[in-house]
Amino acid sequence: MSLEQLINNYKDEIVQKTQELIKIRSVEEEGKPGMPFGEGPNEALEYALKLSEELGFKTENFDGYAGHADLGEGEETIGVLVHLDVVPEGEGWTYPPYAAEIHNDKIYGRGTIDDKGPAIAALYAMKAIKESGLSLNKKIRIIFGTNEESGWGGVKYYFDKVKAPNMAFTPDAEFPVIHGEKGISIFKLKKSFENQCNGDIKIKSIKGGNRPNMVPDSCTAVLEANGELHDDMKDALSDFVSKTGYKITLEQGDNEVVVRSEGVSAHGSLPQSGKNAVSQLLQFLGSAIECEGDMMDFIKVYNDKIGMEYNGQSIGCGLEDDVSGKLTFNVGVIDMDETQAEVVVNIRYPIKHELEKIYNGIRKELDGTNIELEEGTDMKPIYVPKDHPLVSKLMKVYREVTGDEETEPITIGGGTYARALDNAVAFGPLFPGQEELAHQKDEYIEIESLIKNALIYAKALYELAK
Ligand SMILES: [Zn+2]
Repeated sequence: MSLEQLINNYKDEIVQKTQELIKIRSVEEEGKPGMPFGEGPNEALEYALKLSEELGFKTENFDGYAGHADLGEGEETIGVLVHLDVVPEGEGWTYPPYAAEIHNDKIYGRGTIDDKGPAIAALYAMKAIKESGLSLNKKIRIIFGTNEESGWGGVKYYFDKVKAPNMAFTPDAEFPVIHGEKGISIFKLKKSFENQCNGDIKIKSIKGGNRPNMVPDSCTAVLEANGELHDDMKDALSDFVSKTGYKITLEQGDNEVVVRSEGVSAHGSLPQSGKNAVSQLLQFLGSAIECEGDMMDFIKVYNDKIGMEYNGQSIGCGLEDDVSGKLTFNVGVIDMDETQAEVVVNIRYPIKHELEKIYNGIRKELDGTNIELEEGTDMKPIYVPKDHPLVSKLMKVYREVTGDEETEPITIGGGTYARALDNAVAFGPLFPGQEELAHQKDEYIEIESLIKNALIYAKALYELAK
């Protein structure tokens, strides 16, 4: 039988097994003996391995951290990396998050698209290859991770013990193929203040944002000022607001003025899609407050070197390359009081550049300002060229099954599970134009998409392993 026919025959079973897996609430909890990420993730792992055995595959469980299911033999291995853990369900669901109810040909529930539906689709893809009698030269291995959502400890443990596949894909993002991911770094810019502002208005604090990888949508400054100054500021503000269109408001308290800036939140890899509330507020304070001192110097440098830019061009790191485009620069958090300022920055740097060069560029721009760069994390870029067989074969299968000849492989600023491996790319499960509901309420997968995923994976695995 052809792979198409087989996958079609498995349709009800794929739906049913996806539903069963969704019903296991596999949110990370405190570890227990043999269950490093708690009972839920462990139960999901055991479920997947038991199902794999029932489908006729050899399995192994690596102390509850991860597991795998194998088909065939060969010196080389083609891998599929999936994960069985989920983020907490949150609130506001139309249908219960762990009931896996079907409405309008969609399965609803936490983990349906991220990443349990794709995990089951990959298993049945491997089953179809087994039953088709097609011959393979390489081994196919599905690797089940158990804490993708909270630190990747599962796959780290696993890859310390097991040789990584020669090539792999992870159905944990979108189609067609994500063949490159920028480098990601989170670092801090810090300055301590030796002296106070010498003007009539004193800035007591500025606080905004709470996560480096989000564009902050709110920022608040508390100023010490009397009533008269408040009126001056009101005028300055209405000028500023009419010029910029930013949402900034003033509120008078006892000898205190609270200035609030409202921005638009967005993912830290897409700062251009948001409006940074911190940067808006600092621009206003820089234009409205007249004083001298360390604090004001800090605000001036911020406005000169960062301002409303999101590609780091004025702060010495406006780099780009031909495969992944421009560096993105997002100020995610500010925490400033009368003694110090700390800004947390999240950059996504182009694949062909190195973080060291970026740090050096920033340090050079900040020379003489007493603002220090405190180095942080570095998730190195990954890249598989478009003409690499992994990418070209996956693209061929994707085009064949979907008829989509237009969409090209992409590179992104985000990080996918593919980073856990060399020679790996993200491939599915979301099709171009589909709504992205991973980590949100009412997460679902369309049954038709789920089955199409299984067929694409079956053909892709055969192409790679034949
Ligand atoms: Zn995921």
